[in-house]
Amino acid sequence: MSKITKYLNQLITGNVFDAPEILEKYSTDQSALKITPKLVAFPESTADIQKLAKFFHQLSEKNIRVPVTARGSGLDEVGADLSTGIIISTEKLNHLEEIDTRERLVRVQAGITIKELNTALKVSGLTLPVKANDNETIGSLIANCPTDNYAAKYGGIMHFIERAEIVLANGECIQTGRLGSHAISRKANEKTLEGRIYQKLSEIASKNSTLLEKIKNESVSSAGYSSIPYAIKKNTIDLLPLFFSSEGSLGIISEVIIHAEVLEPRATRMVVTFSSLKSTANFLSNVIKQKPLELNIVDLRILRTAEESGKNLSKITRKLQSGYAVFVSFNEKSLRSNKKIRECVKYIPSTSSYIVDSAETESIIDEFENSIVSYLNLPSDGERIPLASNFYLPARNFINFVKDLSELEPKLRMDLPIFGSFATSNYSIRPKFKTSDPKFEQRFAAFLQAMDIIIRRQEGSIAGGTPEGRVKALVTNKYMSQEEKALYKEVKAAFDPNNIMNPDVKLGTDNSFTLKHLKTTKTPRIML
Ligand SMILES: Cc1cc2nc3c(=O)[nH]c(=O)nc-3n(C[C@H](O)[C@H](O)[C@H](O)COP(=O)(O)OP(=O)(O)OC[C@H]3O[C@@H](n4cnc5c(N)ncnc54)[C@H](O)[C@@H]3O)c2cc1C
Repeated sequence: MSKITKYLNQLITGNVFDAPEILEKYSTDQSALKITPKLVAFPESTADIQKLAKFFHQLSEKNIRVPVTARGSGLDEVGADLSTGIIISTEKLNHLEEIDTRERLVRVQAGITIKELNTALKVSGLTLPVKANDNETIGSLIANCPTDNYAAKYGGIMHFIERAEIVLANGECIQTGRLGSHAISRKANEKTLEGRIYQKLSEIASKNSTLLEKIKNESVSSAGYSSIPYAIKKNTIDLLPLFFSSEGSLGIISEVIIHAEVLEPRATRMVVTFSSLKSTANFLSNVIKQKPLELNIVDLRILRTAEESGKNLSKITRKLQSGYAVFVSFNEKSLRSNKKIRECVKYIPSTSSYIVDSAETESIIDEFENSIVSYLNLPSDGERIPLASNFYLPARNFINFVKDLSELEPKLRMDLPIFGSFATSNYSIRPKFKTSDPKFEQRFAAFLQAMDIIIRRQEGSIAGGTPEGRVKALVTNKYMSQEEKALYKEVKAAFDPNNIMNPDVKLGTDNSFTLKHLKTTKTPRIML
């Protein structure tokens, strides 16, 4: 154990490790990267996080810069939870601290997972209606701010967070809240990092009003700090919106107050299969008017692959050579949901077939819902690496995008079946890569670049549904305007003057470092 590890163990109640086997465990996530940290810490309180942040801030003041990376469950798909410095894991900060069922307010530590939270809330007839992986932590849901499949109906995580407690880069702990101009002036005069942040944001607001308006009206990407127009509003500032999609680069979220929703009835589901893109698109554009809980599309090739791994989907795929399956669900009272399902049926052509939830079909629809996981996890001869995951594509350009995609397949010599949510305009394409292939790096780069081009051609954004991290940053940093970059760099510098909070994500990404850390790459041969 190094001296520094021993010192940190004396400093905090939780634990700090530098054993190689622990560092190895925290060197990967769900992305294509492997980056080994020097230390992994498990704080047990906000005070522990503060002590750790303060220690590394003091080192940075002496020009010893150790990157500090917050981490929840380590499921990130773009390498934003990896670090060359210290990982601060929130695994032990998973308590539900307080619940006010009348006001529907709940106070939690940032490391609580969505499953733990919703299991606890269910007893009180409440829920956080965000569709996420069971193990995603609340802190990371804020730091990542994914467009989840329920967001068209419920608005996504941003809609439910009232306030957060945040540990800043120098160890100061702040509570977020919207401040008016007098309170901002008072804060800006304080000799604290928080005071400096308000001072800098006030300056940013006064000199960038046109740019802020442009980002608010035109940006479809969560790259950079594009939520800044929601932080700075009409002479008021709330720091909280900046933390959505911040990927741990502005501070560490330690506690959160959530406004919970009333638990709705279990959803009634329907799956419809189409042989043509045109009839699929027609169905989607009519069903969206019914305001479903979910409205998802899946290329039938994905279901065929899931069938090969044992899923029983023949009642859905039938004998169709090609086509799409659409999943619709409504979670209103059963009479109303059933009425909406009947309305949807009117848009199903006679050549298509459909299944609605019933005692006989329930397990088939359950298997359908699990088929994506099966598709993603089971290729025997490769990996479905997340590169073009959760991208935004406007509904009006969906057909054109799918046509572009089919032209790209022979060029890249890849199968590119699409899946995602039409309701939230959020899609993914996860082709198979052989990481042992000597041409893996070239194929990785060619795919990422080609996807970025065709997504932008149809007015979408590769970082639309989740931010850029290290991986998507390979392309997003290339196309972001200079004025936007300059603005976001000012924001980062205001919060993190010595650049230690997860400095290697977003605009801090070093492309050659990222490519060098592809899981199987020894010697990088490509430059993006
Ligand atoms: C099977 C599977 C399906 C997935 N599906 C989706 C999907 O549909 N949509 C989607 O968007 N994502 C999806 N993901 C990706 C993943 O769920 C998200 O990236 C999620 O945010 C990860 O949660 P986590 O707790 O593991 O966070 P981590 O991976 O540990 O961290 C994610 C980011 O949040 C930051 N962070 C974590 N905690 C804090 C904190 N307390 N304070 C400040 N920053 C913090 C980290 O630094 C990092 O940048 C999927 C992943 C898997 C494995």
